[in-house]
Amino acid sequence: MTDDRRMTTDRFYGGVDGRLDILATLLNWIDETEPTEEAVHDWILAETRARSRDAVGKHLGFIAALELIESDDDTVTIGDAGARWLTDRDPRIFYETLTANVKGFETLLAAFSERGELTDDDLRDILVDAFDEAQMETAGPAARHREWLQALGFVARDDGVNTLTLTGAQLASEQRAEMGEPPDADDSAPDGVRSGGDTSPTRRTRAVTRVQRDQSLVDTLKSLYANRCQLCGDRRQYDQTTGFSHVHHLQPLGAPHDGPDVTANMLVVCPNHHADLDHGLVAVDPESLEITHAYADAETNATLTVVDEHELGAAYLRYHSQERVELGES
Ligand SMILES: [Zn+2]
Repeated sequence: MTDDRRMTTDRFYGGVDGRLDILATLLNWIDETEPTEEAVHDWILAETRARSRDAVGKHLGFIAALELIESDDDTVTIGDAGARWLTDRDPRIFYETLTANVKGFETLLAAFSERGELTDDDLRDILVDAFDEAQMETAGPAARHREWLQALGFVARDDGVNTLTLTGAQLASEQRAEMGEPPDADDSAPDGVRSGGDTSPTRRTRAVTRVQRDQSLVDTLKSLYANRCQLCGDRRQYDQTTGFSHVHHLQPLGAPHDGPDVTANMLVVCPNHHADLDHGLVAVDPESLEITHAYADAETNATLTVVDEHELGAAYLRYHSQERVELGES
């Protein structure tokens, strides 16, 4: 077999919200005490809602498969992936070990970025299509995959409908780039850093791929702001109910700026403020987020609106102010 990864994940105690906390507590305890397998069983039965020794054994097999723990001579120690994840509990480290050991996560992430909203039934159909294996035909694996993606903050669930979060959309975008779409693999580095000589044919490839903006990132960011302008709060509409907005790249994607196609470099704006940004008539202070507009204008807010999930890059606000803005001396 070419792909001997597991078919499914297991549930962990603590539901979607608590499971990573419980897991981190368990791993820290294992790291400190290097307990016997028996002691780990007892810990889980005492500290979680687990009631069955069989279920606990099965679960420990799962976290060992993820290399979060290792068991040797009846001593349990922290695994390579466990140690890396515990350092700062980076959800991407966890996702890496999940995808390295369990099938289906990349498939689901790609489906999310193509289709947007997916129910658990959709997820099951996608797994059944992609993997010709009987286990996928029950509801269990799809829901458990989705729960892990939710626990890691890559998927949000509302009213039975699942969507990518902004960090999930960013991950899906990077995954797509790694899988060769666009074909220039070097271009997958999100910050545009590349090694080696910068020869002109490569530069040309890079410019071409840059122009292919990542529409799923743009769409996710727009929906995060419900199409409201970060500078004035206005939302323009196509009709009575459907809003729209523009996305402005603070450090433009094309030459000579060569800005990265990441949400840290993007603002959701109304068409008027998009024009003002392009014309260099408005600047935003990277620290205070205070907005300076070139002329008296009642529409523009005093400070930029930034939602928690949007990690805007101060460096890009600075780039915009320094390279693009030509405000008169004040
Ligand atoms: Zn606006």
